[in-house]
Amino acid sequence: MRDVVLVGGGVMGCLSALELLQAGCRVTLLERGELGREASWAGGGIVSPLYPWRYCDAVSALSDWSQGYYPALAEALLEQTGLDPEVHSCGLLWLDHDEQELALSWAGAHAKPLRSVDADFIYQQVPQLAAGFRGALWQLGLANVRNPRLMQSLRARLVQFDEFTLHEHCAVESLLRDGDAVLGVDCAVGRIEADAVVLCAGAWSGDWLAQVGLNLPVEPVKGQMLLYKMAPGWLPSIVMAQGRYAIPRRDGHILIGSTLEYEGYDKRTTEQALASLQASAEALLPALAAQAPVAQWAGLRPGSPDGVPYIGPLSAMPGLWLNTGHFRNGLVLAPASCRLLTDLMLGRTPDIDPAPYLPDTRLN
Ligand SMILES: Cc1cc2nc3c(=O)[nH]c(=O)nc-3n(C[C@H](O)[C@H](O)[C@H](O)COP(=O)(O)OP(=O)(O)OC[C@H]3O[C@@H](n4cnc5c(N)ncnc54)[C@H](O)[C@@H]3O)c2cc1C
Repeated sequence: MRDVVLVGGGVMGCLSALELLQAGCRVTLLERGELGREASWAGGGIVSPLYPWRYCDAVSALSDWSQGYYPALAEALLEQTGLDPEVHSCGLLWLDHDEQELALSWAGAHAKPLRSVDADFIYQQVPQLAAGFRGALWQLGLANVRNPRLMQSLRARLVQFDEFTLHEHCAVESLLRDGDAVLGVDCAVGRIEADAVVLCAGAWSGDWLAQVGLNLPVEPVKGQMLLYKMAPGWLPSIVMAQGRYAIPRRDGHILIGSTLEYEGYDKRTTEQALASLQASAEALLPALAAQAPVAQWAGLRPGSPDGVPYIGPLSAMPGLWLNTGHFRNGLVLAPASCRLLTDLMLGRTPDIDPAPYLPDTRLN
C-alpha cells in the first residue's frame, strides 16, 4: 500500500494521514470545506466518553488506548509545530452518581482511578460549584484536549511531509471504479488514482456511501455548545451533572455542553438551546449567571448505533476503507482508531482487536 486518498479532513482524516505518512505512505487528503472545521472543531474535547461505564467494551478499548497516548501525541505535536493541543489533565467530577456501583466495577475492570467522594471533597476541589451536591465520582487526571488547537497543530505537522498533498474546498463526489474495485476518486481537482480510498467524512459518511448503494447507519446528530471566559484556574476540573458538563481550558475559557438533536444537517444555533445550556451552566456554576456567554456554536456528530465506529475495509468494494461513525467520542477515540486503521491497511498486527469495528459484518 503506497498511495492513499482520504476523504474528509476532521480529526479522523488528519490523524489517519499522520499515521500513514509516518509509516511511509503517500497521502492525499481531500476536504470539502476547510480542514478541521466541522465536528472536530465543535466538540468539547473531553478525553473520555461522558459516562464511560455505559459503553460497550469496543468503545472502552479504543478509549483506553487513546487516553494513554494523548499526552505523548500532544507533546510531539508541540515540539514539531510549536502549536500546543493543550491536553489539560484536570480531573472530572460526575455529580449525579446514581450509577456508582456500575461505574466502580467498570473502573476496577479497566484500571481507572475512579472513586466515590463526599461533599467535603467536592467543594474543596471545585469551590465555585452550586450548593447541594452530596457526593460524586471523581477521576483524577482525566483530561480535555483543546480540539481546535489540536486540529491546527495536526495541520501544521502534516504539511511538513513532502509526501502529503492537501486539497481544501474539494468535495469528493464519486469514486473511480473498475467494476466493484475502487481505483481512486474523481473530484474538483480531477481524477486521483490510489491504492486505497478511506472515507472519513464524519456525519456525511452514511449519505455518501448511500450513493454507491451501501447502507451505513451513520447520521448527523447536532450538538450545541456555549463558551464562557473566566480567569485561568477559576474552574479547576471538569464537572458533570444530568448529562451536561463544564470543561475548563487552561486559559480560563469554559465550555458548557451539549445538546443532542436529530435535525439532519441543520447546523444553526437556537435560542432554545442557548436558554437550556445557560440554565445548565448556572445550575452547575452559579457565578456564570452574571456572565454573558462569549460564543455559541453547533456541530454535527457522526451518530452510529451504540457509538461503535466503523474501521476497516469494505469487501463489497475492494480498495475502499472506512474510519467513521465515532458519534459523541471521536476526539477521545481518534488516536486508537487511526492507528488501528493504519495497522489493518499495512498488514501490521494491531494492538487492538479489530473485530468489533469491521464494517463488513455491520452494514445493513
Ligand atoms: C457539541 C459536540 C461536543 C463533542 N464533545 C466531544 C468530547 O468532549 N469528546 C469527544 O471525544 N468527542 C466529542 N464530540 C464528538 C467529536 O467531535 C466527533 O466524534 C469527531 O470530531 C468526529 O470526527 P470526524 O473526523 O469523523 O468528523 P468531522 O470532524 O466532522 O470531519 C469530517 C470532515 O469530512 C468532510 N467531508 C464530508 N463530506 C465530504 C466529501 N464528500 N468530500 C470531502 N470532504 C468531506 C467534512 O467537511 C468534515 O470536515 C463532540 C461533538 C460535538 C458536536
